[in-house]
This record gives sequence, structure tokens and C-alpha cells, in this order.
Amino acid sequence: MLIDSYDRVVDYLRISVTERCNFRCQYCMPEKPFSWVPKENLLTFEELFEFVKIAIDEGVKKIRITGGEPLLREGLDIFIKMIYDYEPKIDLAMTTNAYLLKGTAQKLKDAGLKRINVSIDTLKPDIAQKIAGKDVLKNVLDGVEEALKVGLKVKVNMVPMKNMNANEIVDVLEYSKNRDMTIRFIEYMENKHAIADISGIKSPELLSILKKHYEFEDEGFDGASPSHYFRMKDGYRFGIIEPYEDDFCKKCNRIRLTAEGNLIPCLYFDEAMSINKAIKSGDIKAAAEVLREVVRTKPEKNRWGGEDGEVSSRAFYETGG
Ligand code: SAM
Ligand code: SF4
Repeated sequence: MLIDSYDRVVDYLRISVTERCNFRCQYCMPEKPFSWVPKENLLTFEELFEFVKIAIDEGVKKIRITGGEPLLREGLDIFIKMIYDYEPKIDLAMTTNAYLLKGTAQKLKDAGLKRINVSIDTLKPDIAQKIAGKDVLKNVLDGVEEALKVGLKVKVNMVPMKNMNANEIVDVLEYSKNRDMTIRFIEYMENKHAIADISGIKSPELLSILKKHYEFEDEGFDGASPSHYFRMKDGYRFGIIEPYEDDFCKKCNRIRLTAEGNLIPCLYFDEAMSINKAIKSGDIKAAAEVLREVVRTKPEKNRWGGEDGEVSSRAFYETGG
């Protein structure tokens, strides 16, 4: 079992299989980065799988494939099948912008994928164009319908922003509710890669908007999930991800692996340790030691909302959110 120095069990690995993306979301990757990681530095799916086996053997129970946009990486279904065949009980999920999901949902499901989180910030084509930098909405919504059709469990992620999609909070919730998909509103997390003038909506404001339309009760947190849940009278549950809150990191159970093989103990900080050399040279022992060391050095909490006004320089498209 992997336990950090604050007694948190770390059993959730998020793997960013590529930093590349077909969207240019304003809060994540508004412009193409100056350079991508050179192809030869990336871990192949076989190499990533070598690390996955170590992580599962050390106690990881949940794996999320993310990116960048994970569906851009060819052979993803084969990678998912490798993980599933190694441990069919693993909670295997993916976060995607859904643009390429229509043509891929069935084979991902067949490979062993159980759940997906889809980013839907708007239901208006022009706002989607504004946020993502291209005309994406139809493909995204078609992708969601396909995922539901093939039997994947779907959750929706929305990042509410002032002067952008704030007036669609109820609409996106209703869209999700009508399809039995839990929605999680993610507070915009400031970072140096986002465009400068984004103004996110924090939890209290979001709740006051929702209170004008619904009655609901605070259900608190669900296990180690970062989401603060609320339940409506008819049983529908929605969540808010509140990284600026003091107790957000208390139950953090996750570490992140980038496509290049950097293991990152916390989404906020730049610190990372590489498993690239160890895995590429087949040194399983050394890779397992890096994993344990990264867990040991996991910080107690992030610094969003900290008093020093510091802004995270981590790129969400690199860490996978
Ligand atoms: N491309 C996929 C997608 O968009 O779902 C997966 C990667 S993306 C980095 C994962 C999640 O991070 C998305 O739900 C996205 O909305 C969220 N995200 C990215 N930048 C963010 C930011 N600055 N603040 C809050 N959430 C962010
Ligand atoms: Fe791409 Fe996802 Fe980042 Fe948007 S949030 S730019 S879709 S990685």
C-alpha cells in the first residue's frame, strides 16, 4: 500500500498519455505551446503499461487516462485492454473533450473502459468556439450520445466563467440531469498557461445561482473524491470541485504520470520525479522506488487561494487536470 507522510493512502493514478490537444481552451492551452515533448522522449504504451503494473502491485486501485486529449493517441484501446487484462477489477476511467468519441466509444468500452468524464462548458456553438478556439460543439455532443449508447457511465465537467458561460450553469446541469449524468462544476484554477483575464466562479456564487432554481442538501464529500456533493429533492446529485478551499487536499489520494514519464505528487506544484530512464532500461525496482519516493514527498496541500498570490506554473494539459 502507498501511504504518504500525512497518512493519506495513495491509490489513484492519473496518466496523461499525451500533452497534445485538438482544442485550445482558454483556461488550459489557449495557444499551441512553444514546443511539444519530442516523440523519442515519450513513453510507449508498452512502457507505460510496465509502470501501471508496478503501480497496481503497489496498491493503485483506480486509473484515469487523460491528457491533453487522450483520444489523439493512437492505440489507446489496446493500452486500456492491457490494463484491464492485468487487473479486471481496476476502476478504469478517462477524461476527454469528446471531440473524437463518436468513432471510438464502442472500442474503448470493449477494451475495458468503464467510465468517462467529458468536459462540456457550454451548449452554445459560438461560446464553444470562443472557449475551445474552434467549432467543436456538435462533435462533442454527438460523442456524448454515443458514449451513453454503448453503455459507458458519463460524468460532465464544467468550468464556469464570468462573461463566458456563467449564464449556462443551469442549462448544462439540466442537459446532464436529463441524461442521468452527474455534473461537476470545477472552479477555475489559476495557472500561468491560461489567458490572463479569466474570471472563474467560486463555489458560494455558484451555489447562490443554483439556489434560485433548485432545492438541495449538502452531502459533503464522498470518500476520497475531490468533489463536494449536493443532492436535489428528486435525488439528482451534482458536485463542485473547490481547490481554493482549505480542506480540499485532506483526502487527496492521487498522483499523476505525464506522457514523458514524470511522476507528479500534486497538481499545483512543479516538482516531479522521472521514471523515464528506469522504465526504458527495464529497471522495475528503480521505477518502484521512484513511485514510493514521490508518494513520500507528496505535499500536504496545494496553494490555490494561498495568501502569497503565487500562481501555479503547472500546465493542465501536461498533468491531465
Ligand atoms: N482534454 C480532456 C478534457 O478537456 O476533458 C482531458 C484533459 S483536461 C486538462 C482535464 C480537465 O481539466 C478538464 O475537465 C478541464 O476542464 C480541466 N481544466 C483544465 N484547465 C483547468 C483550469 N485552469 N481550471 C480548472 N479546470 C481545468
Ligand atoms: Fe485540451 Fe482538455 Fe486542455 Fe481543453 S482542457 S485544451 S480539451 S487538454
